[in-house]
Formats: sequence, C-alpha cells, structure tokens
Amino acid sequence: MQDAAHDPLPVLETPGLVTRAVALCSIIAAVLLLGVHVARLAQSHGGVSWWMLPLWLTGMLVADFLSGIVHWGADTWGSEAMPVLGKRLLRPFRVHHINPDDFLTRHWIDTNGDVGTIVSAVLAATFLIPLDSFSGQACVTFIIALAATTLPTNQVHQWAHMTSPPAFVHALQRWGVLMSHAHHAEHHAPPYVSNYCIALGWCNRALVRVQFFSRLERFVTRLTGAVPRADEAR
Ligand SMILES: [Zn+2]
Ligand SMILES: [Zn+2]
Repeated sequence: MQDAAHDPLPVLETPGLVTRAVALCSIIAAVLLLGVHVARLAQSHGGVSWWMLPLWLTGMLVADFLSGIVHWGADTWGSEAMPVLGKRLLRPFRVHHINPDDFLTRHWIDTNGDVGTIVSAVLAATFLIPLDSFSGQACVTFIIALAATTLPTNQVHQWAHMTSPPAFVHALQRWGVLMSHAHHAEHHAPPYVSNYCIALGWCNRALVRVQFFSRLERFVTRLTGAVPRADEAR
C-alpha cells in the first residue's frame, strides 16, 4: 500500500519530443489506414452490405474483450523491470492504480500513441488479405471494426476518469456505448479485480458474472505457479 504520508504519488514521465512525434505519426497512420481499408471495402465487389453489421459488432466486442485481457495481464502478472513491456505497458497501468489522477494530465498524443503503433501494424498487414472473395471481405470488415474500436481504447479510459468529459462523450457514456465514470470506478475500488475491459466496457458485466478473470488467474497459477499481483503494491 502506498504510504501517502511519506512517499509522493508516482507519476508517468512526460515523453520527449521524438517519442511524441512518433506517437502522433502512429495515430495519424492508423486513422488514414482505417480510411483506406473502408474505401477498399466499399469499392470491392458488392461494396458495403447489411451482412457486415453483425461482423462489425463482433469486431467491437472482441476488441473490448482483448482490451480486458491485456489490461488484466498488465495488472496481474510480470514486473515493471521486464524489457519493453515493463516500461510501456505494465508501468503505466501500475502508476495509474496508485495515482489515477495522473492519467488526466497526459496529453492525448501520449495517451493514444502506443495503441496507434500496434493498430497501424495490424492495418498494414491487412493489405495482404485480398478482397475478391466473401471470406476476404468478411475478414477485412472484422479487422476494421476491431482496429477502429481498439485505437481509442486509452482515450475512452481517460474519458471515464473525467468528471466532466466532452458533451458527446458524456452522451455516449449515458447511452451505454462507452463505459461511464461510475462503471470504471468499480475497477479502482476494492478488490480491484473487475471491469478490466476498457475499450467500450460492454463485456464487463458478463465476465464478472462468470468470474472469468478470477478463474483465469487460478488456472494460470496452477499452470505456472505464478502469484497474481506479486509485483504490485496497491
Ligand atoms: Zn487496472
Ligand atoms: Zn482507470
């Protein structure tokens, strides 16, 4: 437990200009690639069609679920001393749990840059999928939905920490499209092991009901002997 009387709350370092420039380029590249893939799909045989809607919703759900898996993994296993992932993934989440308000001071470019890099790489690889068949079009539709939902994951998370988010975000939160402040606050309340999905928040209720993450933790511990949250002081 952080001893606030003696230790200052941890904060994330502000990235340098080069890191921020790379992050901005990644975000722009991801948005442009999304646009290019939508245009490719629209110009492919049959164009945009009704059967893409369930695939689109599935892509959004899978993106939300994957955000939960990644977040749970970063909260639960490993150490900040791990190469690359320790600094870029585990530390931000762990600082965030001890000092949630630090997240609100992060520039939107720093908030979204790393996810932008991953999404750009996935969308670049998506050019390998030909669009001259139904399966190719279905696959690309799913990937576009997955990527478009994943890209603003950290932004959605940051909005959920704001008491006064932008009006359109507040509306989306009220309608249940994005997770609300109250919904995400449950993750930051004892026992700190629920509502890991942060891309939309749609999967959280069902996953809590079936105790998905606590079962998964027990399974990983049985398999590897690793102790959940061994490296973290909340
Ligand atoms: Zn967390
Ligand atoms: Zn949070």
